[in-house]
Amino acid sequence: MRLFGSSGIRGIVNEKITPELCQKIGRAVGVEYKNVVLGSDPRPTADMVSAALISGLTSSGANVKRADMIPTPTLAHSAKDFDCGVMITASHNPEEYNGIKLFNPDGSSFNTEQMIKIEKRIFSHAKLSSWKGVGRVSEHEDAVEKHISSILECVGEGYEQKVVLDCANGAGCSVTPYLLKRMGCEVITLNAQPDGNFPAHPSEPKKDNLTDLSTLVKRTGADLGIAHDGDGDRAVAFDHQGNFMGGDELLALFTKTYPRAVAVPVNSSMVIDEIAEKVFRTKVGDVFVSEKLKEKDADFGGEPSGTWIFPEINYGPDGIYAAALLVKMNSEKDLKKEVEGLPSFPRKKEAVPVENKSEVMDDLISLYENTYPSKNLNLADGIRLEEERGWSLIRASGTEPKIRITAEAESKEALETIFEKAKKQVKNCVEEKR
Ligand code: MG
Repeated sequence: MRLFGSSGIRGIVNEKITPELCQKIGRAVGVEYKNVVLGSDPRPTADMVSAALISGLTSSGANVKRADMIPTPTLAHSAKDFDCGVMITASHNPEEYNGIKLFNPDGSSFNTEQMIKIEKRIFSHAKLSSWKGVGRVSEHEDAVEKHISSILECVGEGYEQKVVLDCANGAGCSVTPYLLKRMGCEVITLNAQPDGNFPAHPSEPKKDNLTDLSTLVKRTGADLGIAHDGDGDRAVAFDHQGNFMGGDELLALFTKTYPRAVAVPVNSSMVIDEIAEKVFRTKVGDVFVSEKLKEKDADFGGEPSGTWIFPEINYGPDGIYAAALLVKMNSEKDLKKEVEGLPSFPRKKEAVPVENKSEVMDDLISLYENTYPSKNLNLADGIRLEEERGWSLIRASGTEPKIRITAEAESKEALETIFEKAKKQVKNCVEEKR
């Protein structure tokens, strides 16, 4: 059984995330990583998870520095001074959830191989240290200052921008308002009291959750609006007229800032190909984007979910660095005009109900491999086929008995042709399997 997904482990507290499990995870991590920094987002269940993790970590001989409530990117950044970073967060999930995410010293999340190793130790009951070897716990107080200083070194100061910032009552409250002020901005905060019950709106930074932010940007005549999720690793924005700049727009804008080489997931738009010199497409999930960035020595990676990775700061998603960059970019160019100037291509999505989705996907992969030249195929996650005037993606849903078809093309007419071709292949394969 797999415990960890691509974003660590997450679940409802005291159903999946029990003190027993957290202690086992701590014990399994502490066997290998002896100096650990531990942080959490403001969820009210963090104390229980933290106590159990610390008990496990110290029992197998790890020393723990407690950074208390900090954003995930700040914890990931501080992992460089340790063997491993442990973050207690369920990111943008509702308040009844919590989770654990593990970080390497370069700020990247643990990859699949590392997580499988931890899981094996959980199931084989990792060894306890002798009583003399039990680890100690102390406070770690300079994580926030170090993160802010590193960001200021990269982006500089002296930005006279008026920014409205919605922290979603999440951990971003403890860093982003102070960072933006030190950059020279006038900052108006919204939902900047940490509260893991997320009383203002759900912590996922979707347009529908951020109507107050849009209104406040317009009412205050601000230059920019920025919103984080519950643990501050994501950021989305609003232009000075209160228009939403979501994942697709920001992915394109950041790519314009780092046009040499970027890593993006297979479901991202062909707009990126128009902007960047080199585009590396990966499996969906920030850990895979991060791995590809390292492998290809690319400059920026991101996902349309609002996840942005900048290797110059570290290899984990950093919504706080993204906020600082957005201020910098907006002071140099009008981001509203930049978005309006982006190429726009029609896109279509549909889900086909399929009972035996993995068998159907296997058949489809062999069919595509035998039909199309390998240079036009990307099989990192489902089947992405590059065509002359667009692309299609066939991918099994992670949670439902469905296969999803996505297509994008230069024109509506080309879109229909590409989409229908992909859909026909899926339907044929489903029929054959019946
Ligand atoms: Mg998050």
